[in-house]
Amino acid sequence: MSTTSAGAAAERAVLDAVPKQLFIGGVWRDGAEGATVDVEDPATGDTIAAVADATPDDALDALAAAHEAFGEWRDSAPRDRADILRRAYEAITERSDDLALLMTLEMGKPLAESKAEIAYAASFLRWYAEEAVRIDGRFTTHEAGSGRLLTMKQPVGPCVFITPWNFPLAMGTRKVGPAIAAGCTMVVKPAKLTPLSMLMLAKILEEAGLPAGVCNVITASSSGSVMEPLIKDPRTRKLSFTGSTEVGRSLIAQAADQVLRVSMELGGNAPFVLFEDADLDAAVDGAMVAKMRNIGEACTAANRFHVAAPVAADFADRLAERMGAMKIGRGTEEGVEVGPLIDAEQLDKVAELVEDAVAKGARVLCGGERVDGPGNFYKPTVLTDVPADARLLTEEIFGPVAPVRAFASEDEAIAAANDTEFGLVAYVYTGGLARALRVCERLEVGMIGLNQGMVSNAGAPFGGVKQSGIGREGGPEGIEEYLEIKYVAMPTP
Ligand code: NAP
Repeated sequence: MSTTSAGAAAERAVLDAVPKQLFIGGVWRDGAEGATVDVEDPATGDTIAAVADATPDDALDALAAAHEAFGEWRDSAPRDRADILRRAYEAITERSDDLALLMTLEMGKPLAESKAEIAYAASFLRWYAEEAVRIDGRFTTHEAGSGRLLTMKQPVGPCVFITPWNFPLAMGTRKVGPAIAAGCTMVVKPAKLTPLSMLMLAKILEEAGLPAGVCNVITASSSGSVMEPLIKDPRTRKLSFTGSTEVGRSLIAQAADQVLRVSMELGGNAPFVLFEDADLDAAVDGAMVAKMRNIGEACTAANRFHVAAPVAADFADRLAERMGAMKIGRGTEEGVEVGPLIDAEQLDKVAELVEDAVAKGARVLCGGERVDGPGNFYKPTVLTDVPADARLLTEEIFGPVAPVRAFASEDEAIAAANDTEFGLVAYVYTGGLARALRVCERLEVGMIGLNQGMVSNAGAPFGGVKQSGIGREGGPEGIEEYLEIKYVAMPTP
C-alpha cells in the first residue's frame, strides 16, 4: 500500500483545504473547551486530521444561530435559495476529484465509488434548486359553495440533522438540499468517523452565498450528550436522522418531548430475490452492485440472497467467482474495488457473523476471512447452504458478505423476504411481468430494485417502512418533510 510522493502531496492538499472548526452563525470557531477529535484513514489507521470537539453549549449556540437566521430566511425569495443550491451543485461538480479523494481518505471506499457519491450528493442540490421555486398550495371552493379553502405550505423551522459515516456527503445533501429549498435553517452533525466531507460542504455553501446561520455544522466526540439538548429544545422544529435503527429509536423517544416532526432513515436487511425465469447474467451483475457498492456498508446493501432452487448453486458459484476476484486495497490505489471497513469494531462484527453462519453449517465459496496486515480489510465472501438460524440473515451485515439460500416456491420466497423487522429495500429478478407486479405488491419495503441492483436517485422518494424508518428523502416528496401545511378558511368573497 505504498503512496507516491505526488500522491501523498495531493492527499495533504485536500486535507489541508478542509476547515476543521465548528461552523456556527457563519463563523468558523473552535469548540468552547478547545478539544479536538481525531479522524483516521481506515486503510492505514493513521490519523489524518483533527476536528473541533463541540460541547453541549456549542451545540446550543449553533441552534441559537439557526433560530435567529430563520426569521429572515423563511421569507427569502425562492429563486435566491434555488440559485445558492445551484451554485453549490456546480462547485461540488467542479471540485469532484478533490472531494472524492477526501472522502476516500476518511471513509475508505475506492475513489471511483467516492466520485459516484459526490455526483449523487450534488444531484440533491440540483434537484432541490429546481424544487425551491415550485412550492405550491391549493385554492378550493367549500363543498357547499359557501366559502373558500386556501392551503399554503411554509417552512417547518430550525432543523437538527444527524448523519452517518457510510455516505459522508450524500446523506447530508439529502437533508440540507430540501431544507434550504424550503426555507428552513439547520444544525448538522456528521459522524465523528467522517466529518471532513460535511465540513467541506459547509464551506462550499458559504462560498455559494448561503447567509450566516442558515446551515451550521458541529462535530463532536460525544454525540449523545451534545445532541440531546438540541432535540429537546423548543426552538427545534424538526429532527432528521440517518443511521442505525437502535439509535433512531432512542432519538424518536427524545423527540417526543417537543412533539418534533421526525424523519428517520434507518437500518436495512435487504432481500435479493432471484426467480428461475430471470436473466442470470443480469442478476449476477445486479447482485454485485447490490452487495458490493460501498464495500457492503450501505443501508441498501443486499443482506441475503433468496434464490430459486434450480438456479441457486449456479448463481452462488458465479457470484463467488466475481466477488473472489475483486481487488482489495486502499481506496486511493489504481484498480482497487474493495476498500477497508470503517473500523475494527465493524471488522470484528462482520467476522463474527461469518463465523456464526459457518459454525451452524454454512459453506464458504470464497473469502470468509480478514486480510492480514494493517487496515480493516475483509475478503469478499459468498456463503451457501446458510441455515435459517444464522445471525446474518436477520442482522445487518454491513460488509462484503453474501449469504445464499435456496427457495422452492414464490410464496416461500416472499415469506422469507418479509421475515424481518426491517423494510427498506428489496431486489427482485424475474422475467415475468405478472410475477414482478405480484411480488412487488407483496414485499413489505419502501423501495424495490426490479431487475436492477440499485435504487438511489435524487428524483425518487428514498425511505423505508417498518423499523427502517419514517419519511422520504429525494424527489418531490423529499421537500414535503420540510414544509408545514396551513389551511385558511374564508367566506365567499
Ligand atoms: P449510528 O451509529 O446510528 O450513527 C449515526 C449518527 O448518529 C452518527 O452521526 C452518530 O454520531 C450519531 N449518534 C450515535 N449515537 C447517538 C446518540 N445517542 N444521539 C445522537 N446521535 C447519535 O449509525 P452508523 O453506524 O453511523 O451508520 C450505519 C447505520 O446507518 C446502518 O444501520 C445503516 O443501515 C444506516 N443507514 C441508513 C440509511 C437510510 O437511508 N435508511 C442510509 C445510510 C445509513 P457518532 O458516530 O459521531 O457518535
